[in-house]
Amino acid sequence: MNCIIYTKPYTLLDLKSWKTVSAPLLNNASEKNQTATVNNTMSCNSSGCQSNCHKSDDQLSGSPPPPLPPLAAANNSNNLCLKCKTNSPITPGSLSGDEARFCADCFRSNIYGKFRLAVTSHAMISPSDNVLVAFSGGPSSRVALQFVHGLQDRAQKNFEASKDKSLAVFGVGVAFIDESAAYPVSSDKVDGAIQDIRSVVSNLAPPTKQLHVFPIENIYATDSSDGKDRLTKLLDAVNDATGKEDLLLHLRMLALQKVASQNGYNRLVLGSCASRIACHVLAATVKGQGYSLSADIQYVDARWEIPVVLPLHDCTSQELNLLCHLDGFVIQTFSYFIQDSLLCFNFFAIDV
Ligand SMILES: [Zn+2]
Repeated sequence: MNCIIYTKPYTLLDLKSWKTVSAPLLNNASEKNQTATVNNTMSCNSSGCQSNCHKSDDQLSGSPPPPLPPLAAANNSNNLCLKCKTNSPITPGSLSGDEARFCADCFRSNIYGKFRLAVTSHAMISPSDNVLVAFSGGPSSRVALQFVHGLQDRAQKNFEASKDKSLAVFGVGVAFIDESAAYPVSSDKVDGAIQDIRSVVSNLAPPTKQLHVFPIENIYATDSSDGKDRLTKLLDAVNDATGKEDLLLHLRMLALQKVASQNGYNRLVLGSCASRIACHVLAATVKGQGYSLSADIQYVDARWEIPVVLPLHDCTSQELNLLCHLDGFVIQTFSYFIQDSLLCFNFFAIDV
């Protein structure tokens, strides 16, 4: 008897269930022939199998396994960074992907290179701009803020080095949307989180960056207590969790737009990364929002009054988390938690 694992579309079936399901599916000769072909080329990968089908052709014939490609072999033997071939990889053997192959310096420059390429190739920031960075304190927006600061710092040094002082330096502000009115959180925690965020922003100077702390209920009114009541009533009117997520997401974007327009900013930077965008593609597809999907995943979304730009569009959340770990960035777990837990599948969440 031969063991068969039929790939698509039966990948998730085990052998037992495959047999019962496959019988009515193999009604014609061509399908049976296809199965026969698969039977000759695939194995069950089971060590308990008596048919030797788990062994590769090389194992059966007794010949040695094929040699590794030269690059992989060299990297394996020397255990060095794939790029500079000098330093040790960050955590060899414990991770997969780029972060397992690069040293810390090369990894850092690789992520920053993705950011810079997105900024320059999509004209996200020009010298005359005034940029507002949405900052939740989470890893993605923390990296976005750090990188935008790096660009500004470099522009400032170029300005100081130029003789005629003709090179303008773009302005940077930071916005934190206080969403505690929508969650049962103690005021002490909120105050502590805001204090930490102030500390992070003040340390990213010079150039000095203004921090805007905007309670989300202020989107309705300047009177905070009245705004809280209205926000609570609005959220209570929505019964399903998905609808509530979408509503809060929209309110947050409105709050960011309000901060930007009231303070003279002409660009809004979000820390949304490739992982967040992938989540959004899945969620929006399931919700039937395919009509706006192509516009949602742009690098620059000009549908808003203040255009929204995503310079971390090509970075994964794993990369950004590791970068925060390497550089010792303090992650504000309070704000990160409430936004990540409730808005875990939303694209325009400030953070991932
Ligand atoms: Zn390296």
